[in-house]
Amino acid sequence: PLILGIETSCDETGVGIVHGHTLLADAVASSVEEHARFGGVVPEVASRAHLEAMVPTIERACEDAGVKLHDVDAIAVTSGPGLAGALLVGVAAAKALAVGLGKPLYGVNHLAAHVAVDQLEHGPLPEPCIAMLVSGGHSSLLRVADVTGDVVPLGATIDDAAGEAFDKVARLLGLPFPGGPHIDREARSGSSVAIDFPRGLSSQRDLQRHRFDFSFSGLKTAVARWVEARERAGEPVPVADVAASFQEAVCDVLTRKAVDAAADQGIEDILVGGGVAANSRLRVLVEERASARGIRVRVPRPGLCTDNGAMVAALGAEMVARGRRPSGLDLPADSSMPVTEVLAG
Ligand code: ATP
Ligand code: MG
Ligand code: FE
Repeated sequence: PLILGIETSCDETGVGIVHGHTLLADAVASSVEEHARFGGVVPEVASRAHLEAMVPTIERACEDAGVKLHDVDAIAVTSGPGLAGALLVGVAAAKALAVGLGKPLYGVNHLAAHVAVDQLEHGPLPEPCIAMLVSGGHSSLLRVADVTGDVVPLGATIDDAAGEAFDKVARLLGLPFPGGPHIDREARSGSSVAIDFPRGLSSQRDLQRHRFDFSFSGLKTAVARWVEARERAGEPVPVADVAASFQEAVCDVLTRKAVDAAADQGIEDILVGGGVAANSRLRVLVEERASARGIRVRVPRPGLCTDNGAMVAALGAEMVARGRRPSGLDLPADSSMPVTEVLAG
């Protein structure tokens, strides 16, 4: 069956069309440029941008896929979590399509969609698997036994998300927003051992209570202090070394905990998703550490890791394939949708 998926949880208006595990279209309009001068996503600006981009993006997806709207068999949409106003635009559009076309509607969880997207590139999902989702809004370790109905959180960030830390550190180094790709590039010419930045929640004591949780705000503060001290001393800031050492601190903790979670649960596959999964050091380190313990890793290509509509369509396709009951037309936009709720009622 042909599934159309709509994503509007943050600053990307995404419309994807899939046929089973085959990706037919992945149209994305991002408002990231409009947020750049604020150094972060502004919710009101994002909602308005979704409203303007929604119809053109649906049209573009249909054109790219070479299908007509009435060929679509089901509509999937991100029900949550995310920015309330932004989600509302996608959910309203999806309801309008479902009613207008007379097709079933699936309101799905954004985090599970980040996992499901991988089947478009690498085929059937490894289940159970440990999913490490790292983006501007999330940093979570999940145990995914069934992407359509059995997702359990093992841990998450207790403060900033990993991508948020990249963006904040980039900002204090004078790099543009979003900062992740810039830090990644700068780090290539720097030394990852130049500065010993703290590894959050990694002490024996912290591990007792927060074995699979993350904390990045202390790291961000440590980088800020280090840079300030340099500036106060009138010395130049070695941007590449700071970027590389910071990136190493983030990737070290993320990969160590992901691999430990897999080993702890007796699970042999790790799936990485979210915008930070595009990070070149993270990709190398997770593969290195996992393979040393006999664990396989799957990471979708960067374009599928950041927010998009194809991931929502991919999860919708699984809902249909596994016979899940569609959501009601009173489906909410749920900004704090729990990760355990994969499909909205
Ligand atoms: P959500 O958290 O709801 O998924 P988002 O828009 O913040 O929304 P994504 O679009 O998945 O998330 O990812 C954007 C984040 O990924 C930004 O914080 C960005 O800096 C980070 N990022 C992108 N590329 C890289 C990279 N190469 N290295 C590190 N971080 C990166
Ligand atoms: Mg984004
Ligand atoms: Fe996301």
